[in-house]
Amino acid sequence: MSSEKPPTSTLFEYVLTHHRGLFATLFLLPVSCAYSLYVYIRNHVLFRLRTAPARHELRVQEVIRQIEAWKRDGAREKLCTARSGWQTMSEMVPKYKLSRRNIRIGMYDVLNIDEKRRVVRVEPLASMSQVSRTLIARGWILPLVPELDDLTVGGLIMGFGVETSSHKYGLFQYICESFDLVTADGQLKHCSATENSELFHLIPWSHGTLGFLVAAELKIIPAKKYVRLEYRPLHTLDAVCESFDRECRDTTRNEFVEALVYSRDTAVVMTGTLTDTPASDGPVNTIGRWFKPWFYKHVEAMLASREPRVEYIPLRHYLHRHTRSYFWAMEEIITFGNHPLFRWLLGWALPPRIELLKYTETETTRQLREKHHVVQDMLMPMAWLKKSIEYFEDHFELYPLWLSPMAVFDNPRHLGLIHPYRDAKGNIDEMYVDIGAYGTARKPGFDGREALPKLEQFVIDHQGYQALYAKTLLSETDFRRMFDHSAYDRLRKSLPYCRQAFGEIYDKVSSRGRVSPVEMRKLKSTDIKVERSSTT
Ligand SMILES: Cc1cc2nc3c(=O)[nH]c(=O)nc-3n(C[C@H](O)[C@H](O)[C@H](O)COP(=O)(O)OP(=O)(O)OC[C@H]3O[C@@H](n4cnc5c(N)ncnc54)[C@H](O)[C@@H]3O)c2cc1C
Repeated sequence: MSSEKPPTSTLFEYVLTHHRGLFATLFLLPVSCAYSLYVYIRNHVLFRLRTAPARHELRVQEVIRQIEAWKRDGAREKLCTARSGWQTMSEMVPKYKLSRRNIRIGMYDVLNIDEKRRVVRVEPLASMSQVSRTLIARGWILPLVPELDDLTVGGLIMGFGVETSSHKYGLFQYICESFDLVTADGQLKHCSATENSELFHLIPWSHGTLGFLVAAELKIIPAKKYVRLEYRPLHTLDAVCESFDRECRDTTRNEFVEALVYSRDTAVVMTGTLTDTPASDGPVNTIGRWFKPWFYKHVEAMLASREPRVEYIPLRHYLHRHTRSYFWAMEEIITFGNHPLFRWLLGWALPPRIELLKYTETETTRQLREKHHVVQDMLMPMAWLKKSIEYFEDHFELYPLWLSPMAVFDNPRHLGLIHPYRDAKGNIDEMYVDIGAYGTARKPGFDGREALPKLEQFVIDHQGYQALYAKTLLSETDFRRMFDHSAYDRLRKSLPYCRQAFGEIYDKVSSRGRVSPVEMRKLKSTDIKVERSSTT
């Protein structure tokens, strides 16, 4: 973070603020390990004993029973899922959990793998680690596996999900064949491209404001043992944009495309293919092992050369290559985390759990985070890639930037909160790029509270979208300019009880619905008013 640090009030806060790396190493990592062990036992032993795929229908009935009870009680409060707000991957915490009636979903199972139809049926709280481990053991894989182990299927559908295969398969929502949704009138609706298709196209990005997701069918593809990864270091902005654009559009050859941008003019563009047998054009690199350098540091070292290089990376190591270092966020928490000594001794304990990082935020670190720190993913049309990198250089000076391609597909009725890019002549281009900016902006005089609203306007002006797990300062009007609410509004009006039960997306993702961890801790100790239902 910045060297400018406001005074702190207590010794504990002083340690948390000024010696966060030491605190993380001595306290957060051991507690994280113990907590991870608890989560592992809970997910893999206790849930296994208590739940089973065969009991899925009973669990759905339990959700319906809770909604029927809410209706019998007069449908007076708004509803939300009961999952603890501290567990979400967002750095913010949902405060609406305190004021709304919590509906327990409790569904963590992988229900069924249909190899003939090439789909896996899963419950919404199944995590990426659980789904990919189950599938890989059977020789399958999801076409796109968002990076972090704890991301949930429900969160990736109701929010958004992207990975480096998204140039080919699109966002997480596009690998979904169907959804089972319990609506606010207690009906179970199966939604697909041909059945309840309006709901099917509007559930993604809706953040649980149309109903409760209780199952989803996801496409699967055959897994292979390795990713053959080709690294191309490039040294001009034009070369970076031209190479990245070209590789993203080559969906026949490239299974994965990613770029890490280290300055305005330097980046490494990476393309990957799946293979079972490493060839002699490069070594096998088990990059995910605890003592290996953090992936973005390993890639940065390649900039020194102008020659492309090839490596064969075991599949799970590739899929979770940024997990140990939370992309590059870890560098600011444990500054010495990539030192070989630390890696050999404690690398296996990384990363600390998100819940604990949030819970130990202090008022001082909150102020610093809001002023200097950025965690944003901007989803920009490929046509504006160069202009976007220049924008980040001029206003943020924050590197590395993560470039992950993503296709935004249309559907016959053009339904959805997001749409493909349309240029001034009306030509459509589905290819977008997720520009991930995580870390401390180095631009002199930078203040995130001023820079974020300007960035959001830049995104709207160029037909981009903002990933909604991150903080937004958009007004409601601008939020509606960014995301097309026309079909969403119509659908909410037509679904019985929908507007009584759920606020709009903006109510959940803006400051109306989310607060910083520090503010949440304060709120918990005060009396919270129940949020009354409304039909407006
Ligand atoms: C450090 C970090 C790294 C990240 N890396 C990636 C990445 O590599 N790729 C990527 O795609 N994304 C990434 N994300 C963002 C992530 O995609 C979003 O946070 C996403 O929404 C999933 O998060 P979650 O599982 O915690 O869902 P939550 O935040 O818990 O849920 C998202 C929304 O969906 C609603 N919801 C969830 N389940 C249900 C349900 N069953 N019924 C109704 N509503 C429901 C919730 O109420 C909430 O509004 C990252 C985020 C962080 C902080």
